[in-house]
Amino acid sequence: MVGKQISGKEIAQQLREGLRDQVLNAGCFRKRPPKLAAVMVGDYPASKIYVSAKQKACQEICIDSELFHLPQSTTQLQLQNCLDFLNNNPAVDGILLQLPLPAHLSDQTAILAIDPEKDVDGLHPISLGKLLAGQPGFRPCTPAGVMHLLQATGVVLQGKHAVVIGRSFIVGKPMALLLAAKGSDCTVTLAHSQTQNLPELCQSADILVAALGRPEFVKGSWIKQGAVVIDVGINRLPSGKIVGDVSFEDACQRASAITPVPGGVGPMTIAMLLKNTVDSAIKRLS
Ligand code: NAD
Repeated sequence: MVGKQISGKEIAQQLREGLRDQVLNAGCFRKRPPKLAAVMVGDYPASKIYVSAKQKACQEICIDSELFHLPQSTTQLQLQNCLDFLNNNPAVDGILLQLPLPAHLSDQTAILAIDPEKDVDGLHPISLGKLLAGQPGFRPCTPAGVMHLLQATGVVLQGKHAVVIGRSFIVGKPMALLLAAKGSDCTVTLAHSQTQNLPELCQSADILVAALGRPEFVKGSWIKQGAVVIDVGINRLPSGKIVGDVSFEDACQRASAITPVPGGVGPMTIAMLLKNTVDSAIKRLS
């Protein structure tokens, strides 16, 4: 069986077009468009690329975006002051704090300083708590994007065994919660760096989500025939080529559907950030 590619690029494009219609036509946006404030500290090259891609995506759907670019020498207090300013600014609907921060700053302390009502990345402990409790709230963008991909592709989740590799609070853990939530109804195994017999575990997965950050680590032989494979990984090889966490060509031979890298999960992450921002603005302006 040759796996069907799930085009995150196309599905994200459809989502963005729907959001653009909403921004242009919803009555509440006659007052003002939604606004995203992006905060970046220092000059980490990958962060610059991500932030500018997010700003460009905002522009395309008529979301107002503003970058607060703080110098590398910024202290935790100065960062907190910037976040407070944005928290208290009624014209800002969402705050995106680009991670990772420089090593002398704490990501967790900074995330805690964001108003949960503007936490469009869905990473504040209040947002994560709401996810755990099954309450509505902002969901972390990458796992929310994966759920949207699965739904848009018509993948049946109920009762299926999902294996998630990776337990970060940004991807793996919220991914496992979303798959196990009522309505998704998967039986979930969360694997991590200390998990034993990972290949055998993966072979029992109807849905396999790889989010470990190791290039082409998951081999084709680990994939159950007909499984749906979601590759969250983004790894740059010494040659400059970008690959995922799954050995794509081999996995295609066994998967019924698989996301490519690039063009799979990545575009969905940005689209969900836009969706969270539009949702936040609707709540604030209605
Ligand atoms: P992380 O480094 O915070 O977490 C990696 C996880 O993988 C850890 O929980 C670790 O236990 C697990 N792990 C590491 N080695 C393992 C092994 N040998 N076997 C099993 N588990 C192992 O990474 P993250 O932030 O969760 O990101 C994971 C990957 O996803 C990275 O490649 C990152 O670039 C990518 N990512 C992509 C997007 C996107 O939009 N597509 C968004 C976020 C992260």
